[in-house]
Order: sequence, then C-alpha cells, then structure tokens
Amino acid sequence: MKKKISFKSAYLFPLMIIIMFLLLFIMLFQMRFSITQFVMEQAAADNEMITKEKSALFDSLLDNMSLEAKGILNYAEFSFINMHNEYDARESINDYYYNTNCVKFIYFMRDGRIYDQDARLYLTIEDNLKQLESSNEIALSKPFYDSNAKTELIIIYMPSQDADSNVSGIAAYYRVSGIYTIGEFYVSDAGSYYIVDEEGTAVFEKDKGITVKSLLESYAFPESDILNILKFMQSEGNIDTVISSFDSAVVSVSSIQNIVDWYVISLIPSTVISGKTSYVIEQTMLISVIIMAVFIIFVIIFLATDNRSLRKMERLQNIDPVAECANQYKFEIDSGELIKANRTTQYAIIYINILNFKNIKQLLPISEVNTMIKNLSDILRKSMIKNLETYGRTSDGRMIALLMYKEIHDIEEKFNDIIEKLKSIGPVSGYMMRINAGVYCIDRNANYQISEMIDRASFAQNSLKEDSNVNLEFYHQKSHDDLLRTIALEGFMEKALSNEEFIIYYQPKYDLVNNRIYGAEALVRWIRPNEGIVPPSQFINLFERSGYISQLDKFVFTEVCKFQNKMIKQGNRIIPISVNVSRASAEKDGFIEYYVNTKNSYGIKDGFLELEFTESRALEDYDILSKRIKELKKFGFVCSIDDFGAGYSSFKALQALDFDIIKLDAAFLKTNNSNPSKNVNLLSGVITLGKTLGMRIIAEGVETRQELNLLRELNCDAIQGYIYARPMSTADFIIFVDKALRIKTESESFIG
Ligand code: C2E
Ligand code: CA
Ligand code: CA
Repeated sequence: MKKKISFKSAYLFPLMIIIMFLLLFIMLFQMRFSITQFVMEQAAADNEMITKEKSALFDSLLDNMSLEAKGILNYAEFSFINMHNEYDARESINDYYYNTNCVKFIYFMRDGRIYDQDARLYLTIEDNLKQLESSNEIALSKPFYDSNAKTELIIIYMPSQDADSNVSGIAAYYRVSGIYTIGEFYVSDAGSYYIVDEEGTAVFEKDKGITVKSLLESYAFPESDILNILKFMQSEGNIDTVISSFDSAVVSVSSIQNIVDWYVISLIPSTVISGKTSYVIEQTMLISVIIMAVFIIFVIIFLATDNRSLRKMERLQNIDPVAECANQYKFEIDSGELIKANRTTQYAIIYINILNFKNIKQLLPISEVNTMIKNLSDILRKSMIKNLETYGRTSDGRMIALLMYKEIHDIEEKFNDIIEKLKSIGPVSGYMMRINAGVYCIDRNANYQISEMIDRASFAQNSLKEDSNVNLEFYHQKSHDDLLRTIALEGFMEKALSNEEFIIYYQPKYDLVNNRIYGAEALVRWIRPNEGIVPPSQFINLFERSGYISQLDKFVFTEVCKFQNKMIKQGNRIIPISVNVSRASAEKDGFIEYYVNTKNSYGIKDGFLELEFTESRALEDYDILSKRIKELKKFGFVCSIDDFGAGYSSFKALQALDFDIIKLDAAFLKTNNSNPSKNVNLLSGVITLGKTLGMRIIAEGVETRQELNLLRELNCDAIQGYIYARPMSTADFIIFVDKALRIKTESESFIG
C-alpha cells in the first residue's frame, strides 16, 4: 500500500507528462501530413483555376489577333475594289497599318504576288508562312525569331472568304513578348506557366527545350501521371490536374482550343505551397500547444491537490494522532520490512500497557491523558535503534515496539530503562504513570503475521495481574495453547453435559482420630472424545465466569445422590460424600430448592452429603451465602469452607458463615521450608482456632508421612491427599470403600 502511494506520486506525474507530450508529438506529426495533403489539394484546385484563367486569356488574345487580321483583310479587299489603281490601293493599305498592333503584315494576291504593308513585293517567303498560306482557314504559326525585327514573332493567317476578291488572305505578325507579358506565361515566384503544343513541347523561344515530360520528371511525378497528362493532351481534353507523388508539386493542364491545339500548363512546386503549409501548421501547432498547456496546467493543479490529499490520507492512514507515531497498520508494515531485511537479527515485540488506564481516562481530562501517551511515545522514539527498531500504537491504544535483542536480559533492561525514564518525567496531573508489558520473542520459523505477533505479546501482557509486582511477562506457547483450549472448551460445555462427557471421581478422606475412612470428595472429570481426561483446572474457572458452573455443580450433586441412593439400595454401607459448590451456583435463585429436593428425592439421610464452598474471591457480602448455609444445615447438609488459607479473607468468612468443617488448603503444608517452625505454629494456631469455634478440621493435599505425622500431632481431625488415596473412578471407589470398611485396622493397612 505504502509503495503504491509513493509510486503514484513519484512516477505517475512525470509519466503522464511524457505520455502527453508524446501524444502531442504524434498528433502534430499526423496533422503535418494531413495538413500538407490538405494544402496540396487546395493548391491543386487553385492551380486549376489559374490554368483556366490563363488559357482564357490566351484565347482572348488570339481572338483579338484574329479580329485585327480580319479587319486588315477586309480593308485590303476594300481598297482594291474602291481605288482606281493598284498603287492607290497599296498606299491606302499602308496607311491602315498604322492603326494596327502588328509588327508587319503581308497580303496575298490571287495572282500569286505577295506584298507587305509597305508595298514591297516578296518573291520568296519563309517556310512557316508558306505553310500557313496553304491552309484554307485561319491559322497560327509557332513563335519564331525574326532577325529583321530582332524579336520573337508569331504570325496569324486569315484567308479571304470571297472568291472574287483580289486578295486571297493576309498574315499579321505580332510580337510574342506582348503575349506572354500580358498572359504572364513565365516562371515566377508563384509557379511556372507555359504554353505547350499538343506534343507537350513549350512553344515560346524563352522556354526552349522545356517539355511536359521533362517538367513533370523534374518534380518526381510518376511515369503513369506523365503518360496520363500526355494522353489527355492528345485526346484534346479540357482540363486536368495531377499532384506529384511526393507532394513536391501540383500541375494543371488546360486546353486553349482556339485556332491552335495548344495547352496552358501551370506548375506550382510545393516549396511555394509549403510557405502556406507551414503557416497552417504553425497556427495549428500554436493552438495545440496552447490547448495542451492549459490541459497540463489543469492536470498539475489536479494532481497537486490530489497529491496533497493523498499525503494527508496517507498520514491519516499511518499515524496515530495522539501518540504522534506509527499506528498499528504502519507499524506492521515497518516491522515486517525490518524483520525481513535483518535476517540474522533476533527481534521481539513488546506490548506496553498503561496500568489502570480505564480509570485514568475517566478521572483525568483528555488532554492530560494524551500527554501521558505522548510522553511514553517520546521515550520509545528516543530509545529506538535507528533503522533497526520501530514502534507504534495499536488499534486498542497500547504502545508496541519491535526490539532487537541478543539475550532475554536485553529486553528486560530496555523495559526497565523505559520505566526509569517515565519516572524521571514525574507525575502528570498528580498521577504517576505505571506500565506493564508482554513480550513475544519472534520465532522466525513460526511464520506469524505481525498482527499475530502483537496478539501474542498482548496475550502475555494480559496474563499479568495489575496489582502484581511482576510487570513484564514473556509469551509462552503453552499458556497460549491452554487459553485457546479453554475457549474451545467453553463452546463444548453444553453438548458435553448431554453427551455425558462429565463423570465423577471420588477421593477418599481419612479420619485421624478413629483411624479409618472418613468420607470422600466428589471431583468432576471431563472425558473429551478423542482427547481423554481434561482436569478441572482447565475449565472450572471458565465455567464460573460463563455461568455454566451451576449446571455442572447440579449435575455432580445429582450424580452423587444417585450414587449414594444406589449404594443404599444395594445394601452397602455408605460414607459421607462432599460436593463442591461454586459461589456462583450457591447464590443462584432456586439453589436451596434444587439441592434439598434432590437430596430428598434420592432419600439421602442427613449428614451424608457435605457441601464445600470455595472462598477464592474477596467477598464483601456474605448475606445471601450466610442465609443459605443456615438453611442447608437445617435440611441436614454438612457445610465446609474449602481451600481455607488460600483465599482472601478466610478469617472474615469464618466469622460470618456458620461452617461445620474447615478444609485447610495444601498451601499450609507446603510453604516456607526455610522456617518450618513458623509453619508449624501457623498450622497449629489455625487448627486450634477452628476447634475453638466448634469446627472439625481436615487437611488437604497431604502427600508425605511427615505432613501426616505433623497433622496428627496438631490434632487435625482428618486428612485428604495422595498419601491416603488419589481421586478414583466410581468402580474403583466402591472397591476401595468396601475394603476400607472391612479391614479392622485400617491405620495399619494405610500407614503400613
Ligand atoms: P478442591 O476442591 O480443592 O479439590 C481438591 C483438589 O486437590 C483436587 O484436584 C484433587 O485431585 C487434588 N488433590 C487431592 N489430594 C492431593 C494431593 O495429595 N496432592 C495434590 N497435589 N493434589 C491433591 P482436582 O480434582 O484437579 O480439582 C481441582 C479443583 O476443581 C477442586 O479443588 C475444586 O475447586 C474444583 N472442582 C472439582 N470438581 C468440582 C465440581 O464438581 N464443582 C466445582 N464447583 N468445582 C469443582
Ligand atoms: Ca473441594
Ligand atoms: Ca480444596
């Protein structure tokens, strides 16, 4: 996740810019071609127009020439008809010359004589003139150089339509230069314009050597285009246009179709057009760049704001706002990376808990509470080894750290160091912060997720008691497994009852005064299918918390009643059996009714059922229990205080509750080996006290002969313990009791 974000901000933006420029480049590149093509097509259309105009211009020049030639012819014919003699006629024709645009003109007489406007008689005439004269219709010569006039001339020939006329036709000479300056048939900056004959050869002297073929070839028109144009001219088409294959030029051909079969060819090279093209491209580019720039600015603004909010989000995602350090999410990522990167380093996760935090939160203003957390966070930050350790705050508000260590001692030292630093800060709002912590030493082989490691450290911390001196606990796989087991067991309880997975074991008790069996205690066993026996230590506490215990206690009690009942019915002698009753069971409504009814319905005589009440919790309120015990006794139950000496306020309970029997906890026998006499005194004192209060005393957990002898010496009434008998199944118990009652000198058999 973290990587993704940084990738986004670090690479995405420049990448986008590069892509955008690439796109722009491609776009303009593509556009360049289409623009060129567009401009060339436009130029071709323009060129076609130009060609048409020029051919029309040449057309009208020819019209003018032929009109003038016709006027000359008419005048010459007129002169010969109206003048008295030839001389006058020739004089008159000569006068007419000055009204024309001709360089000179010549008239042909029917008798074969040829005169020019100055009445000079020609005996021989040039070839081209001869050729013209031989045609019966109006004709035009090719331009030619005239040495007399010292210029290029063109002749138009006009035959007479009147067979009776003296004149058969006239030929008028014109300056070519006049034609091509008026028609602009030359090479200019804007292109080249030529008049070519039907063979495709330029007709004007100045264009000598130029042919359509050579022209098109020089601009890389393909052979097929050249052939097309030539074919077009031979077929006397009207107008045609071709664009060269490399867009190097456009060429148009338009026929003149007046007197001669000539063509105007107009060629515009792309160098001329490209000025226009690049202008269009420049404009397009400019517009595109402006659009792009605006777009990029938008993107930048968008990304900048997006980036800012991303970073803000990232911060929110990763930072604990109170401790101003990594939150659990970030801590998990960072630790994961550190653990991975430092393969040979031993790491532990420490889960630090502020003691009494719930109360602190209720009592102190939130700002003060936050200061406390911040203080702890600061201490942690300073104690981290840079680039090797990290810390953060869990989602449930505890501080966590990833610590490296060589020996377990290192972790303890670090933790104590944190405590010292906290102390040096002193109290906040008068409250001196105290902490405890759980540690999970990372087992790389276990392949746990960081969150699972935190859970383990948290589990270890949870096992610490707030009022204990111990403030650091290490995670042990076994205790965790046990916990998981109990949680699992809780789920099985209900079904286990109906499945009859609970059975009763009996542990016989021994009477030290009469030296014989005294009674027995019923102890529950849970036989889990495929698992075997689960000891009560693993589920009694759990059931007490969940409330299942009263169901179980009732079950055990009923089983014991059934057992006693069966013994009576079978004619056996019965002995008193004690049953454990949890405080939660005893305080439930209907408790007395159930126990009394069951006792009665199985016909158990008074004195043969004993109830053991455990005093493990600090009790303030004995009202209910006190009432219940009184009642139970009325109904013939014997009541005993269990685990006496191990609980919180045993003596207070002794005073408040009317017990028949005190069951001394095994702790009385086991503690303080260094000072045995103190032990003995205490034990002796308790026994004496009990007896003074009129109670019988039974010692539990007696395992050795010394313990037995001591108890005997101190006048303890009875014992229960492995030295006499272990808890046993019903079948074994029946045999045991039978044997014990038959043997006259049990003491010998037991002690021996
Ligand atoms: P408890 O009532 O104090 O029961 C005596 C415990 O001491 C039994 O453990 C017994 O097996 C053990 N014990 C007896 N002699 C010796 C000895 O010489 N040395 C040692 N080390 N241990 C000895 P158990 O059967 O595991 O029961 C544990 C506890 O579970 C009982 O302590 C009792 O508090 C509870 N419990 C058992 N059955 C029931 C029941 O049906 N209802 C209730 N509420 N609690 C029960
Ligand atoms: Ca007991
Ligand atoms: Ca006990």
